[in-house]
Amino acid sequence: MTRTITPLIAGNWKMNGLRSAVEELGELARLMTTGDAPRAMVVVCPPATILHAVANRGATSGILAGGQDCHPAASGAHTGDISAAMLADAGAQYVIVGHSERRATYGETDELVRAKAEAAIGAGLRPIICVGETEAERDSGEAEAVVAAQLAGSVPESGGEHGVVVAYEPVWAIGTGRTPRNEEIAAMHNRIRAVLVERFGDGGESVRILYGGSMKPQNAREILAIENVNGGLVGGASLLAKDFYTIISAV
Ligand code: PEP
Repeated sequence: MTRTITPLIAGNWKMNGLRSAVEELGELARLMTTGDAPRAMVVVCPPATILHAVANRGATSGILAGGQDCHPAASGAHTGDISAAMLADAGAQYVIVGHSERRATYGETDELVRAKAEAAIGAGLRPIICVGETEAERDSGEAEAVVAAQLAGSVPESGGEHGVVVAYEPVWAIGTGRTPRNEEIAAMHNRIRAVLVERFGDGGESVRILYGGSMKPQNAREILAIENVNGGLVGGASLLAKDFYTIISAV
């Protein structure tokens, strides 16, 4: 039996946002506190340079902060990297791991993504573990098998606990304005739920499964209404407070 899960809408600002972007968060906070109370949990994942400011600014309006990546090690000689504990220290409660841009650009493997997720859990963060097929994999009918394999490799053994989140993001839908058909999203989310329940039993029923990839004000309502879509991971449309708030309000 599927439990009632409070949806989660997470914004991934990627490599966008100087200190002045914290103003945009002020606008989101204003919309969230003066408009209808959101029926979703809201997380914003800004660049690490403004994470602390975003965490502080969002605190009074229920906007949580998240990192966009973390190193699997707790500390050490890893120039340029950020540990999960550092993100937590800066005010993060969530961290995205295994985003397809990192898998593609830095060759991140499922094994590394799993280690990052474990590090996040160890630091008290909730990892948002990204999975998703390429266009070629979808065209050849392998999408569900690819995603199942990514789940097996990337989600830690304790994946049914600790508030672990899975984000299904078809690579070909990210930043392209294209989305899968609703039936395709439904089929994939049902498959992900089945994989999680098979592996984690009861715990797998409570894992949030987000959809990500060109979610925008125009399509959010119908995507968020699909069974086993427990929220969204939003890139481009999270950069403008008005658009992001419209998506949050679509829950
Ligand atoms: C993302 O990169 O996580 C994402 C979903 O991007 P967009 O919404 O811009 O497609």
